[in-house]
Amino acid sequence: MQLDAKIPAGPLAEKWQRHLFESRLVSPANKRKFTVIVVGGGLAGASAAATLAELGYQVKNFCLQDTPRRGHSIAAQGGINAAKNYQNDGDSDFRLFYDTIKGGDFRAREANVYRLAQLSCNIIDQAVAQGVPFAREYGGHLANRSFGGAQVSRTFYARGQTGQQLLLGAYGALMRQVQAGRITLFPRRELVELVVDEGRARGIITRNLLSGALERHAAHAVVLATGGYGNVYFLSTNAMNSNVSALWRAYQQGAGFANPCFVQIHPTCIPVHGEHQSKLTLMSESLRNDGRVWVPKTPGDNRPPDRIPETERDYYLENKYPAYGNLVPRDVASRNAKEQCDLGKGVGATGRAVYLDFAEAIKHDGETAIRCKYGNLFEMYERITARDPVREPMRIYPAVHYTMGGLWVDYDLMTTIPGLFALGEANFSDHGANRLGASALMQGLADGYFIIPATLGNYLAGAGATPLDQEHREFARAEKVAAERSARLLGARGKRTVDDFHRELGLLMWEHCGMARNRQGLEIAAQRIPEIREEFWKNVLVPGAAADLNQSLERAGRVADYLEFAELIVADALAREESCGCHLREEFQTGEQEAVRDDKHFAHVAVWEHRPGQPPARHREKLSFENVEPIRRSYT
Ligand SMILES: Cc1cc2nc3c(=O)[nH]c(=O)nc-3n(C[C@H](O)[C@H](O)[C@H](O)COP(=O)(O)OP(=O)(O)OC[C@H]3O[C@@H](n4cnc5c(N)ncnc54)[C@H](O)[C@@H]3O)c2cc1C
Repeated sequence: MQLDAKIPAGPLAEKWQRHLFESRLVSPANKRKFTVIVVGGGLAGASAAATLAELGYQVKNFCLQDTPRRGHSIAAQGGINAAKNYQNDGDSDFRLFYDTIKGGDFRAREANVYRLAQLSCNIIDQAVAQGVPFAREYGGHLANRSFGGAQVSRTFYARGQTGQQLLLGAYGALMRQVQAGRITLFPRRELVELVVDEGRARGIITRNLLSGALERHAAHAVVLATGGYGNVYFLSTNAMNSNVSALWRAYQQGAGFANPCFVQIHPTCIPVHGEHQSKLTLMSESLRNDGRVWVPKTPGDNRPPDRIPETERDYYLENKYPAYGNLVPRDVASRNAKEQCDLGKGVGATGRAVYLDFAEAIKHDGETAIRCKYGNLFEMYERITARDPVREPMRIYPAVHYTMGGLWVDYDLMTTIPGLFALGEANFSDHGANRLGASALMQGLADGYFIIPATLGNYLAGAGATPLDQEHREFARAEKVAAERSARLLGARGKRTVDDFHRELGLLMWEHCGMARNRQGLEIAAQRIPEIREEFWKNVLVPGAAADLNQSLERAGRVADYLEFAELIVADALAREESCGCHLREEFQTGEQEAVRDDKHFAHVAVWEHRPGQPPARHREKLSFENVEPIRRSYT
C-alpha cells in the first residue's frame, strides 16, 4: 500500500494557497459532464454536496434518514471553533493550529491541521451568510465561549443546538441545488457495496430502506461522509444509526484504515443507569465554562452534595491542572474522573459518577443568566434524570463519543483508492489521538465547503469524464455480494437478537479497549471477538425479508461489520505500545496516570490494509514536526 500524503512544499502558512494554484481545474462548462456521489447528509456530506453542485457538478446525495436534516450532526451541542479573535484574547491561526495539534498529542499532520485553522474563519462567514443564528453579544458581535484545551474563547455557538443550526444552513444550500436540478437526493438509502473498477471508485450499490431493493449508482468519483463508528461500543452518545459499514466496505475494497483505536471518551455524559439502556446522552463540554467538577475527599462519603462542606470536597481538575482547570481536554478529564471513581470517591448509586456543580456560577451571575446560557441542556438533563441541575450538581461520567480514526486520506482527502474521498468524522485527518471540543464541526465543514470543492476538481481533471456504465460486470458482482450478505443474515434463523450480540461486543470493548487498555485485556478481547462473531453467524435471529422495510436486517448488517471491525481496533491498540491522547495503555503512564508517548517508535499514523484470508497489514505514515516541537503535553 502506497501512502503518499502529497503534502505541498513551501512554508506552512502558504501550502494550501500554493496547492490551490498548482491543482488542475475543471472548466465551468465541463463540470456538468461529471457525476459525483456524496454518501452522507450530515454536516460534511451536506456541505460538500451543496458546494460541488454550486460549482456545476451533477451530484447524487445519499443518506439513511428520510431527510438530510436528520443526520447525526444535528446532535452537536456546544459549538464550532474559529480563530476570529473577536475577544482580542490572543488568538490566531497559529494558536488554533497549535492547540489542535497539541490537543491531539502530536499524532496529526501539521499541514492538514494548519489548513484547518486557516479555513476556520471562512466557515463562520459562510454560515452567517446562510443565516445561521449564532449567539451574539449585546452590541451585535458574534459571541464566543471557551472549550477544553484552549486558553482563549474561540467557540461560536447557537445555544446548545449548534449542530442543528449549522445543518439547517447546509440543508438550505443543498435544497437550493436540488431545486436547480444539480442534486438528486436519495434519502432512506444505505450504501451496501462500493464499486471499484480498474482500481478506481466508480459507484455504489445501495439498499432502498423502504422497499429493500438493491440499486446501482455510477459516478466519476465517490465521496464518503458517513460519520464515526463510536457505536461499536453499543453504548455511546452517537445517534442509533451511526455505523462503520460504509467505511468497512471501502476498507475491504482496498482503502487504508487509519488509527482505528483512537476513540474519544467524553468526560461529561449522563451516567449509565441500567442494563436495558441503548443510548447515552452527552452534557456538552460548554457546561465546563461554568460548572465545577468535584468529588468528596473521603472515599465512600455518600452524604448528599449540599451536606458536604467546601473543605471536604476535592475539585480535582482545578487542583491538579490550575492553568486550564475544568477545561482540560477530554482525554485528561475522562481519565481523572475514572481515577476518582476507582479510588472509591465516585457518587450516586453506582459510584461511577462525579459532580458538575453550577452553584458558584449561579451565585455570581444569577440563575437567569446561567439558564439563558445552558437552558436546553439543563432541560435535557432534568427530563432524563428527574433532577434539577440548578438545585443540585449534575452527575456525570465519561462515555464513548467520537472517533478520531477513519479512512486514511491524503492532503486532498482522497483515500488509497483513487476516486474515493472521505470527509468529516469518516476520515482520520486532523485530530490525532484526541479531538478538542468544537473542532469536529469545524473539520467537517472545512472538508465540505472549502477543501473537497478544490481537490475533487484536481482528481477529475486528470481522470476525465469517461462514460458511466451501471451494467458493468463490477456492478453486477457488487450487487450479488450485497444480496448474498442479506440472505445469509436472514438465513441464520437463530435464537439471539442482533442487539444482544451488539451489547455483548460493546461491553467487551468498553472493558478491555475503553478508557484504559493493557496488553492482557486487549488479548482477551482479541480472542473473544472472533468467538462472538462465529456465534453471531450461527445463532442470530433476523426476522422478515430482504425485499421489504426491515430494520432488523439493517441493524444486523451493521453489527456484523462491527464484529469484524472491533478486531481491527483491538489489533491497533495492541500494536501501539505507547500512551497518547485517548489511547491510554496502562503499561505506559506516569505515576499520576498521565500518558507517556514514545515519539521514537510511534510518531506515525498506523494504516491498516485488508488482506483477504490473512491478517491485515500495518503500514506507517511517518509524522514530521517542522513547525512545532512535540513536547510532553501539560495542562498544569
Ligand atoms: C451528542 C453530540 C454532541 C456533539 N457536539 C459537538 C459540538 O458541539 N461541536 C463539535 O465540533 N462536534 C460535536 N460533536 C461531534 C460532531 O457532531 C460530529 O463529529 C459531526 O457532526 C459528524 O458529522 P459528519 O457529517 O462527518 O457525519 P454525520 O453527521 O454522522 O452524518 C453521517 C451521514 O452519513 C449517512 N450514512 C451513514 N452511513 C451510511 C450508509 N451506509 N449509507 C448511506 N448513508 C449513510 C447518515 O445518514 C448521515 O447522513 C458532537 C457529537 C455528539 C454525538
